[in-house]
Amino acid sequence: MEEKKYTMAELLAEEDERLKREAEEAERQRLINEENKRLEKERKHQEYLAEKERRHQEYLAEKERRHQEWLAEKERRANTFEDKMLTCKKCGKEFLWSASEQKFFKEKSFFRPSMCKECRASIKVINNFRRS
Ligand SMILES: [Zn+2]
Repeated sequence: MEEKKYTMAELLAEEDERLKREAEEAERQRLINEENKRLEKERKHQEYLAEKERRHQEYLAEKERRHQEWLAEKERRANTFEDKMLTCKKCGKEFLWSASEQKFFKEKSFFRPSMCKECRASIKVINNFRRS
């Protein structure tokens, strides 16, 4: 078997070549690691954005739900009447404005009564008297 004899220059050149390949491989690894880090960072950012969006949607849904609740409550109150005491602007007496009267007034779009039944009746009598 023939043994190749290397000159010092050849050995040095080979060593240089080996070091160069090692450096290239190290650089390649470094770039791969950098790319992986970048991808990981990007993935986390996407996760963060998705989570942020999810919470925003949750917030909007909750806001809408509360708004609907508020509307329903408003509607319920508008159709719920309780007996109320009003003060007659003519005789100054308190009089009852019953729930059913309130409902009737609302259906007819009347204003709330300003006078008690007696005063209203007496004004009707005067008007009728004037008309006749
Ligand atoms: Zn009155």
